[in-house]
Amino acid sequence: MLEILDGLGVSYKSVSSTIEEDTVELIKQILEEEAAGGAAATTDAAPAQNQSAQPQSTQTAQTEAQSAAAPQSAATATAEREPEVAAPAAPETPHRAPVVTIMGHVDHGKTSLLDYIRKTKVAAKEAGGITQHVGAFEAKTSKGKIVFIDTPGHEAFTTIRARGANVADIAIIVIAADDSLMPQTREAIAHAQAAKVPMLIAINKVDLPQADPERVKTDLTQLNLVPEEYGGDLVVVPVSAKTGEGVEDLLEYISLTAELEDLRADPKGNFSGVIIESRVDRQAGVLATVMVQEGTLHVGDFLVVGENYGKIKAMTDSGGGRIKEAGPSTPVQVLGFSEAPASGETVLSAKNEHAAREVIAQRASDRRDAENARVQRKRTLEEMMGPLGETRTVNLILRADTQGSLEAIQGILAKKETEDVKLNVLLAGIGSPTEGDVLLASTAEATILCFNVTAAGGVKKIAENKDIELKSFRIIYELIDEVDRLIKGNLEPVF
Ligand code: GDP
Repeated sequence: MLEILDGLGVSYKSVSSTIEEDTVELIKQILEEEAAGGAAATTDAAPAQNQSAQPQSTQTAQTEAQSAAAPQSAATATAEREPEVAAPAAPETPHRAPVVTIMGHVDHGKTSLLDYIRKTKVAAKEAGGITQHVGAFEAKTSKGKIVFIDTPGHEAFTTIRARGANVADIAIIVIAADDSLMPQTREAIAHAQAAKVPMLIAINKVDLPQADPERVKTDLTQLNLVPEEYGGDLVVVPVSAKTGEGVEDLLEYISLTAELEDLRADPKGNFSGVIIESRVDRQAGVLATVMVQEGTLHVGDFLVVGENYGKIKAMTDSGGGRIKEAGPSTPVQVLGFSEAPASGETVLSAKNEHAAREVIAQRASDRRDAENARVQRKRTLEEMMGPLGETRTVNLILRADTQGSLEAIQGILAKKETEDVKLNVLLAGIGSPTEGDVLLASTAEATILCFNVTAAGGVKKIAENKDIELKSFRIIYELIDEVDRLIKGNLEPVF
């Protein structure tokens, strides 16, 4: 504030000195522009046009104040766009590489596909070394970098999401051409849908004589996922992780999808990232893989994760090479935490140790407040189900002992939908509910209803901890009654 006054050449004796009214107006303007974040780009991109209104010194102060937020973007704006059409709103943020996760049924070839891509698309010197597992790797393709999460399966994906972090931009669902859709395929699809992450289908093992990709496409259509060649918008790519057939196409479709998603992050912005995985090495100590999402990470930075912090002593990239800094969409292994952070935790940086400790103290106190509040207050129906007077959705996960009972239940439920309440079955699976189901329910705010199957104790506990309703029934109509209750709950909230 006083900097701005200095910049304007206004004299003052102390913070409480009075100033002219039009000076106040001018300061307000400057502060508003700063808050809007768009001023720096315009100023930077076209410095010559913009000097009459404010003295030079103000401009400098203003640009400095914003330098943390936007200078790189301004540079990009100048390089990519004509400066005359200077962005009316926020300045352009640079593009970043997509982060991709691979999911699908067991044995359908997730690991093989990742291995094939790693073998062929990771620079030779890196692939040649001992490929230490850090949870992600960077593939270099003709269309640019693609980052792959190296732990296939939706558990890893959903564990990370369940903590509120969103690490994958695109999900590849691998389906074996000789096996078609299997229970975990449906789960993987449900997880990607719940997370609203765009999906590409890789029909794998097309080298096998018994491969039947057409059947896979027809089966997908039955889940309302219509392949492009059938007139829908689902990208389906036949591949073989064994021969490599189609893998190049798959990578190209990933880049295309990424382009459509318009993924961007500012390497000069405030740092934030997500823990992909961590482990304790007997010699080195805690090794944590961080996915950089915004900003740039440097050796020596202080990182705060949950209620822990650490100073980065060393960093290696996913190929094992020492690096000093890492920008957006880069997975890096970081040495410096004293305790292993959990996957999915978000990471922020602090200026110094003191600031890191302050953040942690604040978080600890917020957590205690939240715990107290939770004990005192049950959530209201409206909080759980959104505002009144709009079409609302009851999200369900169904589990049953047989395909027959699942179909029977879904048949009845289909008739229960009304104009006001939609029933959305995220997943209908055979067998007991899993931990993954609970995580899915927590991502999508769903209720888990089981028929003739019950949850294992561990799964029940997780559901309890996460406040997820999980109920088992032996009589179909009792399950349906429960759905009625959920629907009515929506229509006639009782407080
Ligand atoms: P995951 O459980 O999904 O990770 O599956 P894996 O990658 O472990 O593959 C399961 C089995 O299928 C292994 O024996 C692989 O060698 C085999 N496999 C994977 N991809 C292909 C493929 O494209 N063609 C053939 N013929 N076999 C494959």
